[in-house]
Amino acid sequence: MTDARSLTPKLPVLKLLIDGQHVDPVEGGTFAVTNPATGQKLCDVPAGTAADVDRAVKAARRAFESGPWSKMTGRERGKLIRKLADLLFERREEFALVESLNNGKTFKDAIRGDVAPGAATLANFADMASTIMGEVLPVDGPFHTYALKEPVGVVGTIIPWNYPTCMLGWKLGPALASGCTVVVKPSEYTPLTALKLGALALEAGFPPGVINIVTGLGDSAGEAIARHPDVDKISFTGSGRTARRLLQASAATNLKKLTLELGGKSPQIVFADADFDRAVEACFWGIFGNKGETCNAGSRVLVHEKAYEPFVAKLAEKARALKVGDPLDASTEMGALVSQKQMEMVLGYIESGKQQGAKLLAGGNRDTEGFKAKGCFVRPTIFGDVKPDMKIAQEEIFGPVLSCLRFRDDAEAMALANNTPYGLAASIWTGDVAKAHALAKQVKSGVVWINCFNEFDDAAPFGGYKESGWGRDLSHFALDGYLQTKAVWTKLPSP
Ligand code: NAD
Repeated sequence: MTDARSLTPKLPVLKLLIDGQHVDPVEGGTFAVTNPATGQKLCDVPAGTAADVDRAVKAARRAFESGPWSKMTGRERGKLIRKLADLLFERREEFALVESLNNGKTFKDAIRGDVAPGAATLANFADMASTIMGEVLPVDGPFHTYALKEPVGVVGTIIPWNYPTCMLGWKLGPALASGCTVVVKPSEYTPLTALKLGALALEAGFPPGVINIVTGLGDSAGEAIARHPDVDKISFTGSGRTARRLLQASAATNLKKLTLELGGKSPQIVFADADFDRAVEACFWGIFGNKGETCNAGSRVLVHEKAYEPFVAKLAEKARALKVGDPLDASTEMGALVSQKQMEMVLGYIESGKQQGAKLLAGGNRDTEGFKAKGCFVRPTIFGDVKPDMKIAQEEIFGPVLSCLRFRDDAEAMALANNTPYGLAASIWTGDVAKAHALAKQVKSGVVWINCFNEFDDAAPFGGYKESGWGRDLSHFALDGYLQTKAVWTKLPSP
């Protein structure tokens, strides 16, 4: 990997991408994008509004109904998606540098955890584009009846700031493979890589209108996508608060379909017979990887009472030693939180943990040492003796804060694991594989990892139970969310 500090950042063309053209927003506004590690402004980005969303949706509709895209076979679409994936992978360092500067994550995390997986997901959906097919149905009577799989149409993809490039792959991959056209609205905190990807899509040869990028604020550009009567579906990753607004907007307009991925409060359940060292390592990075700004972050560690004290002590020792610092420095293990607002929210949760009587075992404060004085850095924080009803045990913090709870038996472990409104992911650590599989069935979450954590593969679906969301990202399960099923009946002549 190249030394990030020797690279010159290549910012994108700071314009919207609509109908294959880089254009200024109708109302001409901009908003500032900041480097959260230094507090310095990176650039001004166009603030798209409802008028721009409308232009983008019209372009996407034209491309969907009558442009060259609408006539392409799955195999042809797959070739274009593959080209985009290859270009993104080739430029992964260029993208990762911009992502690191914009999001605060380390350069190495930006490559390995964000840009490269985003490219891999696109490549995987490129392969899947030619596998979409219907089936002949065994109906009674003199009929030839078959089910067709057809794209849902124009998709609005509303993207968060924690894995900006990876999320583009997760959303664009299945939408394009299915034959949909898209209007992308990246997060206002991290819009730069989406604009860069828009330019790559032109280079790859996507026809005008297939991929449109409208940067802007949630309340204007985001809400305009949500309320647009000609958007057929929204694929969203972000907060439950915004998801509820999207649902209301869908209900108030055209009942657009929704795929929602809304984060979690994932338990990592550690039994006394677990492989201690492997479990410590995975639980540690399960929360502190990507600064804890991960929807499936293992933000609750539940440990059997026999192993609790040494396990939690080891986690705290590692947290105290973690190197927080310049995201571009290859030796940094944790960078800056994404924004001042996010940092304040995280510090607020830390305060609530202290006030509600949890035992602070590591961190617990902002880190302003040296280089970090003006950035959004928080020490990795671990609370022990957390009670199940405390805010830090219930709410998604989305930062480097771990809540540790103890349990006495399997039943209590399951009760604690399922005791939040969320259900995105969980891990179970034990030497007893039969028990692990039995408990995996009892955990109410979309993903259960046994003796591992944070494993992803494009063949496996990802998504949540309960308030963690609707539908799935990744794998062929994700494609279902972008396809309609049409039954076609033909009456056969009597013999
Ligand atoms: P958010 O839900 O406000 O933002 C996510 C996306 O939704 C952004 O692109 C935003 O512009 C857009 N948006 C906001 N309001 C909108 C509206 N009314 N209509 C349409 N789009 C709108 O999330 P946030 O404020 O950036 O983060 C707040 C919290 O959300 C975090 O602390 C975290 O708990 C959670 N979050 C979860 C994920 C995840 O991966 N599930 C990602 C980011 C944030």
